[in-house]
Amino acid sequence: MEFPALDVLAIAAHRDDVEQTCGGTLLKMAEAGRRTGILDLTRGEMGTRGSMDERAAEAAEAAKILRASWREALDIPDGRVENNWENRLKVARVIRQSRPRVVILPYWKGRHPDHYTASKLGYEACFLAGLAKLDVDEALSTQQSAFSQVASAVASVVAGEKQSRPSAAKAARLAKAAGTAEGRALPGVATEESRDGADARLAPHRPFKIIYATLYYDIRPTFVVDITDQFEARFESLMAYKTQFSDQEAGKDIFPVRAEIRARIDAMARFYGMFAGVTYAEPFLQKEVGLVEDVTAIPVKSI
Ligand SMILES: [Zn+2]
Repeated sequence: MEFPALDVLAIAAHRDDVEQTCGGTLLKMAEAGRRTGILDLTRGEMGTRGSMDERAAEAAEAAKILRASWREALDIPDGRVENNWENRLKVARVIRQSRPRVVILPYWKGRHPDHYTASKLGYEACFLAGLAKLDVDEALSTQQSAFSQVASAVASVVAGEKQSRPSAAKAARLAKAAGTAEGRALPGVATEESRDGADARLAPHRPFKIIYATLYYDIRPTFVVDITDQFEARFESLMAYKTQFSDQEAGKDIFPVRAEIRARIDAMARFYGMFAGVTYAEPFLQKEVGLVEDVTAIPVKSI
């Protein structure tokens, strides 16, 4: 896997979330010469339509339309995005490798549990990625080996290989150890080797700015990005998910046809565009207040 240093990294639960919530903004940044990337947390194996491989090819095509420099999907189970230690480490690892200045996360409330969980998971991963004493790879391997020890101990008990008390006690001890790994503060200091070697790019990094894409949720944004010039390409990036959005029989009750999707996307982008007096826009929220140097240069007309 190649990891170019990025200016903007968008993190989302599912392939096609970014296309729907902040694809126009990513394309606009790329057109301005910024390096953008997309991290999908899941691979879509629970989807009604299309295989994982088909979805991977579609995601790559969509990334090309949005001119993203980099895109990958983690192996977090679809429909079961959890904000746990292991997943935070996996995301923190990508943040250290890609070193973005800006991270775009989903808004922290929503209908789909994967979406709001991805928001909190992403925020906490940004925090972890900046901790100087955290060795992400070491922490990940500790976590994974504790898990596999528990899994094999449980498997042997279930298989009835060793049903004696010492064995059950051992499984309990291991389970307790894994629980400790889950909840513990931080593993040891990074070794000189890992800092200076091939993993030098895994040095601590915290994004300067985190913004939240709010399009999936009915909340007033703190700012919008004018995507009038990017709107058509953004729509095409969504249509790259042919298994999901083309007119077809399977699942037609839950998947609207292309014309209907087009109308919805158009209406939403126009709605947010109206807030700022432009044709199409994407909505975002930032937790911080805005800082202004020159009050005569603040955009968006009051009356
Ligand atoms: Zn989604």
